[in-house]
Amino acid sequence: MIERVVAPNPGPMTLGGTNTYLVGVGDGSGELAAIDPGPDDPRHLSAILETSRRLGRISTVLVTHRHLDHLPAALPLCRETGATLVGHADLPGVQRVIRDGETVFGALVALETPGHTRESLCFWDASDGSLFTGDLVAGSGTVVVDDQPGALADYVGSLERLMGLGPRTIYPGHGPIVHDAVSKLTEYLQHRRARLQQVVDALALRGPLTIEELVEAIYTDVPVSLHPMAARNVRANLEKLASDGQVAALSGQRWRLKA
Ligand SMILES: [Zn+2]
Repeated sequence: MIERVVAPNPGPMTLGGTNTYLVGVGDGSGELAAIDPGPDDPRHLSAILETSRRLGRISTVLVTHRHLDHLPAALPLCRETGATLVGHADLPGVQRVIRDGETVFGALVALETPGHTRESLCFWDASDGSLFTGDLVAGSGTVVVDDQPGALADYVGSLERLMGLGPRTIYPGHGPIVHDAVSKLTEYLQHRRARLQQVVDALALRGPLTIEELVEAIYTDVPVSLHPMAARNVRANLEKLASDGQVAALSGQRWRLKA
């Protein structure tokens, strides 16, 4: 049993609002886990509690990552229900720390999947192929990768790991439930690989280039006001290519392809 309660926080980054999921164990006990209780909004907390009373009793609160549209309602929900907040060691307020591969509730297993944030977890049920991704994958559009060195490599590695599970259904942190999980992951990986290839192609054609020159070469249809964000993205791609041994930094802030 999986029930979705959408928070009243729609927006460009949150799509229709944060998806909170109530998951049952299916053993007749009525025990529920709440995944990503969402923003600190009393209306949403009431909606979660109301739905849970119809289904059973929340005993576990799972949070995929620390962002303000996922975590803040977690401790209030624990206080209301007596549930325990379960998550990554670096999750603020965590009451029970879980590690990669540990079973957290029923058949749900925690997977460490960094990239969107360093402490991002997914929750995976191999028995029916359900995968709760938080913000690693959204129901529509793409997601923001963390602004930390190595985050893009982590992110792509996390997507590849999820792909390797052969999931059936993705329950994302935002947007619609995805019924063809492997197609969605394939699309996400292709999108990231296409961006990496654009950087490689620009360096092959015109290199060595600075990040600013790469932005001008690649983001030809993007207004100048968005160039700082584009530069961040190019830098992340260069770091990933450098860690794969495909590019090298030169003096004078230029980057070149390695032979
Ligand atoms: Zn997030």
